[in-house]
Amino acid sequence: MTAQLTITRIKLPLANAYLVQGERPILVDVGAPGDADRIVRALAQNNVQPADLSLILLTHGHGDHVGAANELATASGAPIALHYADDAMARSGRNVLGTLTGLEARMIAPFVDKPFPSVTASILLDAPLDLRAYGVAGEVIATPGHTPGSISIFFANGDAIVGDLLMGGRMGGALWASQPGVHYFVGDFAQLAQSMEIVLARRPQRLLVGHGGPLAADAVQAWWGGNPISRR
Ligand SMILES: [Zn+2]
Ligand SMILES: [Zn+2]
Repeated sequence: MTAQLTITRIKLPLANAYLVQGERPILVDVGAPGDADRIVRALAQNNVQPADLSLILLTHGHGDHVGAANELATASGAPIALHYADDAMARSGRNVLGTLTGLEARMIAPFVDKPFPSVTASILLDAPLDLRAYGVAGEVIATPGHTPGSISIFFANGDAIVGDLLMGGRMGGALWASQPGVHYFVGDFAQLAQSMEIVLARRPQRLLVGHGGPLAADAVQAWWGGNPISRR
């Protein structure tokens, strides 16, 4: 199982999605409404057809990550998995952003915070999930804070996809993409801090994020050691 694992970033206008290819491919996040064609093209460039996907895994319920879920689910026949604590948000089609963490967040919020088509996940996560059942050497755990239902995924190759737990760079990752930073929107700072500790304790080598990145683990350790949340 560990022999084969490739993670490809699919860079979308607002957010990243990831194609994870193990014995079978899964898709992590699906961008904003209207991104389905871009994702299908990216899959094709990696010789993956939508029908090959065994799972569509959503890191959390925000519209820039779940926006094209319905089209991708229809095209692939794959189940959509989401943590149950973000189910109501995904179904409602309305973002709950939490605290806006600065001036740039307030500038960017109107562009990001658009209603999106209601998404109904067929798998609601409430415990760690071993992805081997879907052909990928990886494990999903709950890492709440950005949203109540945010998850992170740890892979056998040392990579971790952590969604919007933190972000890379400024302006949605357009600048200094490899520099760790506090996300624009935080639901619960205490939960977020606890989740960061849980993620770092697992010693991933690389953190793959929803915006910008990838982030080297030592850069994240150094940044986190400076107490970026309590300084706010
Ligand atoms: Zn988000
Ligand atoms: Zn996002």
